[in-house]
Amino acid sequence: MPEENLADTATVKTTRTTRANRGYRQKVASSLTPALSRWEREERIPQRAEAGRVRLPDALAAFPPLPAGEGRGEGERLEVRQPFPVAEAPRNSTRRQFVQATATATGLASLTGSALAAQTAGKPLASKTLKTDVLVCGGGCAGIAAALAAARRGAKVLLVEKAPFAGGIITCVGLPYFDGIADIKDNRIVVRGIALELLSKSGVCKPDATHTQKHNPTIGNSFAFKLLLDQLLREQRDRLTVLFNSFVCAVSPAGGRIRSVQIAYKDGLVNVEANTVIDCTGDADVAAWAGAPFEQNAEVQPLTLHFRIGNVKRAGNLSMNCRAALAKAQAAGELPFYYGPGVMFLYHDTEVYIHGIRVPANPTDAADLSRAEMQGRADAWAMFQAWKRDVPGFEQSYFMEAYPWIGVRESRRIVGQHVLSEDDLMKSRRFDDAIATGCWYLDLHPNKTVVGSANDFDPKKVQPNPYDIPYRSLLPKQVENVLVAGRCHSATRGAHASTRVTVTAMAMGEAAGTAAALAVAAKKNPQEIAGVKVREALKAAGAGSFTEA
Ligand SMILES: Cc1cc2nc3c(=O)[nH]c(=O)nc-3n(C[C@H](O)[C@H](O)[C@H](O)COP(=O)(O)OP(=O)(O)OC[C@H]3O[C@@H](n4cnc5c(N)ncnc54)[C@H](O)[C@@H]3O)c2cc1C
Repeated sequence: MPEENLADTATVKTTRTTRANRGYRQKVASSLTPALSRWEREERIPQRAEAGRVRLPDALAAFPPLPAGEGRGEGERLEVRQPFPVAEAPRNSTRRQFVQATATATGLASLTGSALAAQTAGKPLASKTLKTDVLVCGGGCAGIAAALAAARRGAKVLLVEKAPFAGGIITCVGLPYFDGIADIKDNRIVVRGIALELLSKSGVCKPDATHTQKHNPTIGNSFAFKLLLDQLLREQRDRLTVLFNSFVCAVSPAGGRIRSVQIAYKDGLVNVEANTVIDCTGDADVAAWAGAPFEQNAEVQPLTLHFRIGNVKRAGNLSMNCRAALAKAQAAGELPFYYGPGVMFLYHDTEVYIHGIRVPANPTDAADLSRAEMQGRADAWAMFQAWKRDVPGFEQSYFMEAYPWIGVRESRRIVGQHVLSEDDLMKSRRFDDAIATGCWYLDLHPNKTVVGSANDFDPKKVQPNPYDIPYRSLLPKQVENVLVAGRCHSATRGAHASTRVTVTAMAMGEAAGTAAALAVAAKKNPQEIAGVKVREALKAAGAGSFTEA
C-alpha cells in the first residue's frame, strides 16, 4: 500500500509554516539546550525542542547548519542555490594544476592535496581511464531504465551504482510500489516500456496489459526484483558493463562539458570518459558538481527508513493501538517524529511492514545524512519497543530487519531548459517534446508528526490527470553532454512532489537512455537531439508517452 493510502482519517488540512509561527518556534527553541546547533534549534527539530523531550548527543551539535535562504520554512518558497564553483581547465595547464584548481573550487582541497602528494611521489590519483558511449550514474528506478534503454539501442554503456545491487529505492529502501503506472480514475496504464516490463516480469500483470488491478500495484519480493534486474543487465553484457559498490565521487568539467567522471571503487579511483553522462543519482550529484544550476529547498521532505517486524498476531484494533503506543512513546521523549504509522501485513499474515519514520535532514550533507541514518535506526527500534510493550499482538514479535539505508524523497532539482511546474501538471499542459507521462498526486510530506496519514492535506485536491513531462526537463543548463533523470530532474518543488514516484522516474530514465543512444549514433550532444525525435523513438518502441487515452 503506497503512502497516500495510510490516510484513514479524513480530517486533514493544508498548513504552511508562516513567518509568525516560525518566529514563535525560534523563540521557544532558542531558550533550549546549547547542545543543539542553531539550525537544529530553529528549523530542524522545533517540535522536539519545544517539548524538551529529545536531546541530541553533544557531538551532533557540531554538524553544519544548512545555508540561510529566503525560503526557509516557508513551504513552497524556494532557495535558489548557486551552482558549485567550477574550475575551468586553463589552456596549457598541467594536469596537476587542473586537479588543484578543481579541488579548490569544489572544496576538496585538503583531500586532494594529500592525493596530489601521492601523485608527486609517482602514484597518480586515477591511473586508469575507461571510455564508453554512455555513462549512467546511479542504478535506481531511473538509472536501470536508462542503462537498459541505451544498451538495447546499441550504445556502449557503463552503469555505476554505489549499492551492491541495482533497483535504488525499491531494493535499498525496500519499497515495492509501482506508483505512477496507472491513472487513478480507471487504472489505465499510462507508462509502458521498461516500467511495464519490470512489473509484468515480476508477475503482477501481463506484458500487454492495458489496465492494472489497482492504480498503485506492488511487487511481491524485493530480492526477486534484484535478481530480475541482474538478469536484464546480464542480457546486455556485450554492450553494458555494471560496476556495483562504486561511488561517483567527482567530475572534471571543461568548456561546458563533462570531460571525465571519477569513480571510487575497489580498484581505487578511475576516470570515465563518455559521450553522454546520465545523472540518475537522485541527488543530481553529477550535474551539480559539473556546474549545472540547481535548487534545493532549505527544508526538504523528511527521510524514512522502512522495516519489518515478525510474529505479529492480528488482535483488536491494531492500527489504533499502534498509534496510541507511538503517541505515548513520543510523549515520553522516545520518538521525535512519526507519521501514520502504516502497519501493513504486506508480505505475510504474521509480518508487518512499517512506514512511519520521519527524520528531517539535509540529504546532500554527508554528516547530516549519517546522523539521519542513525536517527532512523533509533526510531525503528523505539517503535518496535513501544509496540512490543504496549500493543496486544506484538508480545511475541521480533525485529526482522530494517532495509539497508534511509530513503530520501527530495534533495537537489536541476534548473533545466524547462522547469516543470504544478501549473503544468494541474492544467494538463501538453508539450510537443513530451517523453514521459506522470499521474501521481502532489505528494509532499511535512517535517512533523501526522497521525493516521502521511500528508497534512487532502490528496484528492492535488490529483492531476495524466500529464506530460517534456524532454527539456531532463536537460540541464550550462553543461552540454549531461541528461538528468529521476527525482532530480527539472521541476518546481510542487511538481516534483508528483514526478518523484518510482514509475515516473523509470519513464524519465528510459527517455534519457533513448536520447543518449540517439546522440551517440548521431555523434551529437543530447542537447542537439530534438525532443520530438526522442518521443517518436519511444513511441515506436511502444514505450509512450500515453497521456491521451
Ligand atoms: C521513504 C520513501 C517512500 C517513498 N514512497 C513511495 C511510494 O510509496 N511510491 C512511489 O512510487 N514512490 C515513493 N517514493 C519516491 C520514489 O521511490 C523515489 O523518488 C524514486 O525512487 C526516484 O527514483 P530515482 O531513480 O530518481 O532514485 P533512486 O531510486 O533512489 O535511485 C538513485 C540511485 O543512485 C544511487 N546513487 C546515488 N548517488 C550515487 C553516487 N554518487 N554514486 C553512485 N551511485 C549513486 C543510489 O544508490 C540509488 O540506487 C518514496 C521515497 C522514499 C524515500
